[in-house]
Amino acid sequence: MLSSVEREKQGGDYQLLTNYVYKLRPNVNQSSTMDSWIDMLRSQYNWSLGDRISQYNQQFIQGDYCDIRTKAEACPITCFVSKNGATGEPWKDVKVDKDGKPKNPRRSAGDIQITALPELKKARPWYAGIDSTVLQQNVKRLDKAYENFFDGRGFPKFKNRSTFSSFTYTMGVKVQLVKIYLPKIGWMRFHNSRPIPTGFTIKAATIRKRQDGWYVSIRIEDKTVPDYVAVALTDVKSAIGCDMGITKLVHLSDGHQIENPKFSTNKKVKRTLKIRQRRVSRKVKGSKNRKKSASIVGRLHKKITDKRQAHQWFIANTISSRNVDAIGVEDLNVSGMLKRCRVKIDEATGRFLPNGQSRKKGLNRSISDASWNELIQKIEYMAGKSGKVFVKVNPRCTSQKCNDCGYIEAGNRDKEKFICLSCGHMAHADINAAKNIEELALSNIASMVRRDSTEPEPRGSKRPRTKSPRPLGKRGEPGNPSSRDIKAEKS
Ligand SMILES: [Zn+2]
Repeated sequence: MLSSVEREKQGGDYQLLTNYVYKLRPNVNQSSTMDSWIDMLRSQYNWSLGDRISQYNQQFIQGDYCDIRTKAEACPITCFVSKNGATGEPWKDVKVDKDGKPKNPRRSAGDIQITALPELKKARPWYAGIDSTVLQQNVKRLDKAYENFFDGRGFPKFKNRSTFSSFTYTMGVKVQLVKIYLPKIGWMRFHNSRPIPTGFTIKAATIRKRQDGWYVSIRIEDKTVPDYVAVALTDVKSAIGCDMGITKLVHLSDGHQIENPKFSTNKKVKRTLKIRQRRVSRKVKGSKNRKKSASIVGRLHKKITDKRQAHQWFIANTISSRNVDAIGVEDLNVSGMLKRCRVKIDEATGRFLPNGQSRKKGLNRSISDASWNELIQKIEYMAGKSGKVFVKVNPRCTSQKCNDCGYIEAGNRDKEKFICLSCGHMAHADINAAKNIEELALSNIASMVRRDSTEPEPRGSKRPRTKSPRPLGKRGEPGNPSSRDIKAEKS
């Protein structure tokens, strides 16, 4: 079936991991067990999040209360005030590590909540039916949400039935031909649509409920291609630039264009969706019929997503099979593009004025439908797999710059046509942009090579993520092509 990309940071280097997704065939008991697990895990997740929020408030915002709800005063004799973001024991037993060095004895909020799991099982015995690694991963999921928050991606949200539909095992999952063993659930049949390569190790397995049934996503280390022999940065001679668009999904710098099938915004799908959604809204709320028609809408949505995924893998394959050393794409801020227009208020009357949001709505939908970020992720994955260097470049001015003479002017571009106001160079606007991206990618790589050869590598420096480390001996040797050499060879 489909597989998805996951990048895991391990020891500073990026490792390519693959997810193999299969459809499960649970029996009635198994599917109701999994349903109840998801309900329990959701409430555990929400409780853990609430706990962290109230502990934080207690410590930093509300003052010295023992309990926020009762506002009882804190006193070390009557209660224990955690300074660590979760209720529980904040200290570790082991205060020295293996080498005898003192270790930070304080637990993080996630650690506290993981240590408290046995007590949860004692107090609420029905939780004992859930596999322990699943419970741990559930807390780690919240940790991940907090990590995202600290990276500036929004505060963790409380989950409801539609936003919480999966759980993850990290141990004990076994696969045999058409059967899979899930700890505490048992052997289950599944549609083995694609053999797992031999010599693999299962890193984790995520069970997910989707509109038309249960799926398992098995994360494995892909041993079929153990060594991605990446091109050394110094050996990069050619690149391909990709410009993302709406009318055509991708424009390549070699003049090739890839269609945008508009999976969720084409006329036919929009009409079908509208009809099916109307059928839901006309049924009595809470009725079985409403549920039935809602699941029909859900299945259509799933079909659209699956089609989009398949098409994106096709594109990623097409691009990565080009005979080049590097792939350059734009570093897009898609969520920024999807932001709402600023509210306009008439100062005299205090009323709201039209701000163009309704006009932008259609464009927003097209942007979400194109889902460039997911596509770029897949291109990055395929580039890594085929040993190509992957670079993200700043898309600034790429659509306004003349690829022939370098003249930058907004007037150069007239919709799809590009006519340079300085030299009269004529081209397709997006292919011109793709060519600019190609040039930028090459010059970025060249400047990275130069930086590497002049000074010791700065920590955390930005460089393309390639699987295997570059051979050290090649760095700094005389005769390495500089940016000028690369450009000269190109022209
Ligand atoms: Zn020009």
